[in-house]
Amino acid sequence: MDRRDCRRAPDRLYVIDEDGIERELPTRWELCDVCDGKGSHVNPNIDRDGLTGEDFAEDPDFAESYFRGDYDQPCNRCGGRRVVAVVDEDHCEKHLLALWREDREAEAACDAADEAERRYFARFER
Ligand SMILES: [Zn+2]
Repeated sequence: MDRRDCRRAPDRLYVIDEDGIERELPTRWELCDVCDGKGSHVNPNIDRDGLTGEDFAEDPDFAESYFRGDYDQPCNRCGGRRVVAVVDEDHCEKHLLALWREDREAEAACDAADEAERRYFARFER
């Protein structure tokens, strides 16, 4: 999956604790790893499947626009702010941090399942 096809990073991070109460986690700002801190990236619809030298050679106008940044859009992850909130692990209560990690693992498993499904159905679209 293209890393740019992601959800906007939330500013505040929460977990539901053992008592079912929503708890906000301490955060710190980290450079966005989707745009590498640039705040923008090429629209993934343009080059998601990869572009080759041939693509540019066949269409110099396109190449010029591409490298000039005409197809850039604000980063999907940080919304152009260049940074995203991450849990400040040094200042987070241990049990909340454990819950947070469990949530992320569950989310990753869920995303992987979505991706497998997408690939499966994509085979029939050709
Ligand atoms: Zn970004």
